[in-house]
Amino acid sequence: MSSSQVLEVALHARHLERDDLRQILLASAPAQMTMTQQAAEKVLLQHCGDAVSLRGLIEFSNYCVSDCLYCGIRKSNHAPQRYMLSMDEVLAAARQIAELGYGSLVLQSGERQDARFVEFVAEAVQAIKQGTRSARLPDGLGITLCVGEQSRESYARFFEAGAHRYLLRIETSSPELFARIHPPTQNFEQRVACLKTLREVGFMVGTGVMIGLPGQTVDHLVDDLLFFRDMDVDMIGMGPYIPHAQAALPGNDDIPSVPERLGLALRMIAAARLLLRDVNIAATTALQAIAPDGREQGLRYGANVIMPQVTPQQVRRNYTLYDGKPCLDDSAGQCAACLTHRIHGVGRRIAHDQWGDSLHFAHRTGGERIEFKAGAHAGTADRP
Ligand code: SF4
Repeated sequence: MSSSQVLEVALHARHLERDDLRQILLASAPAQMTMTQQAAEKVLLQHCGDAVSLRGLIEFSNYCVSDCLYCGIRKSNHAPQRYMLSMDEVLAAARQIAELGYGSLVLQSGERQDARFVEFVAEAVQAIKQGTRSARLPDGLGITLCVGEQSRESYARFFEAGAHRYLLRIETSSPELFARIHPPTQNFEQRVACLKTLREVGFMVGTGVMIGLPGQTVDHLVDDLLFFRDMDVDMIGMGPYIPHAQAALPGNDDIPSVPERLGLALRMIAAARLLLRDVNIAATTALQAIAPDGREQGLRYGANVIMPQVTPQQVRRNYTLYDGKPCLDDSAGQCAACLTHRIHGVGRRIAHDQWGDSLHFAHRTGGERIEFKAGAHAGTADRP
C-alpha cells in the first residue's frame, strides 16, 4: 500500500499493522507529511476534541541515583548544582498553577527510592490536594508523578496520597537498545514490570520513547508504537533525542540531522494518534528545543497535552536533561501568555481548570472512577 492508502485505512478505523506504521514513519516527503498531519488531526478531533490540556511542570529535585547515559543530571555529572525544593516552594508553585487555570500539574524529579524522598513526594501530593481546592477546582489539581522506578509500596503510597497519573518513560522498547543507553544497574524488564505495577495500583499510566537515538532504526520505532498498543497505555510523552554535552552517549555525528529528527518525531506522534486514537499525547518541550514552533507542530500532528514550565526560575538551569532546553528565563506568567498564543495559533482551545484525563482510561475501564478515599484528598478522576 502507498502511504496515502495507509492513511485512508487509518481514517476508517481499520487496524494499522506493522507495515502500515512503517510506511507512515518513512513518508518524509512534504506532500506525505501534509497528508499524515491532516489524517492525525482529523482522528484527534474525532476522538478527543480540540481541547489542549495543560499540566504545570514542577521539576522539584535534580538529585538522581541513576546514571542514564543520555541524561544531563545523571549522578556522574558533577556540573549541575544539585537542589531539592522545599515543601513550601512546591506548594507555592502548585498554587500558581491553579491560579493560572492549568487544572493539573506534573511533579518530576531525578530518581531516588529512599524513605525520606518517598515520604516527601507523598506529603507533597497530599498538601497540593488540600491547598489547591477552590470553587473552580473542587477536587484540587490533578496530579501526575514522574519520579521513576519505585517499589509497589511506594507507588501505592503515592496513589493513596491522591496522585492519579504516572509517567514512566521506557525510552525504547528494544531491550538491546535500552541496554546501550542505560547503566548495567537498569534493565528493560524492570522498567516494564514497573509499568505493570503502576497499572495494578490503579494509576493512569503514561510512557514514551526518544526518537533519533544512536543506533535506532525505523523498525525500533514501529516496535515502540506496538509496545504502546500492547501495554494499553493511557498517555504518551515522546520527543526527539537531543544530546547533552556532559552526557555519555555519542553526540550529533551519530544521529539523524535536526530536521530529520523533528520530522520523525512528528510522524511518531501522528502514527501513535492514528493507531491508538483516544490516548493523551504530549507535545513535549524537546520538540520546541529543536524548532521554535515544535510544540505547535506536535499539536497539529495529533498531540493534545502541553506541560508549561512552572519550576522556580532560580533552579531551572540545573534541570537540563538535554541541551538547548527552552523557556529557561520565562516566568510562569510569561509561559502562560506565550502558550495561549501558540495554542490558539493552531486553531485549538485550552481546557482551563480541568484535569484533562485520558479518555482511553475511561474507555478501557468502562468509565470507572478512581476514588481517593482519604478524607483530606477525596475526589474522583473522571472529571471532564
Ligand atoms: S533520565 Fe531520569 S533516572 Fe536517568 S539519570 Fe536522568 S534523571 Fe536520573
